[in-house]
Amino acid sequence: MRRRFEERAEEHEEELDDEERRRFRALLVQLLDEIRAGGDVELAPNRVDATDIGGDEDSQPLNEMSQAIASSRNRARTGSVHEIEAALRKLRETPEDYGLCERCEEQIRRRRLELIPYARLCVRCQSSREDPRGGTRKKLTDYV
Ligand SMILES: [Zn+2]
Repeated sequence: MRRRFEERAEEHEEELDDEERRRFRALLVQLLDEIRAGGDVELAPNRVDATDIGGDEDSQPLNEMSQAIASSRNRARTGSVHEIEAALRKLRETPEDYGLCERCEEQIRRRRLELIPYARLCVRCQSSREDPRGGTRKKLTDYV
């Protein structure tokens, strides 16, 4: 539905065709499967008891640390599941909008979509949203 009214000479990216949409859909489904398959594994580090770690008292702080790491990792995962599901819904309901930046409606670069198939913003909008002065840490994928 959406069409660009102005063509930019630089960074022009063609819109996705049906085959590419299918490929990104498969990528998203695969990601979702991986997250769901591995999602619960790290949720129960409490089960590691004294016998498992050989009764070594020094292991306890390490265990707490890995627990903290695991829970922050799980939070990141939950966020991704929502984003992946939103992207899949978009592919199903309004496939022509998939891969377009939700802010400026430019086609998001394929290189970016291959790394983050659930990306909703193009690099430019993503980086302008995350103002460095606001203290948001940039991820490598924000620049792809
Ligand atoms: Zn944009």
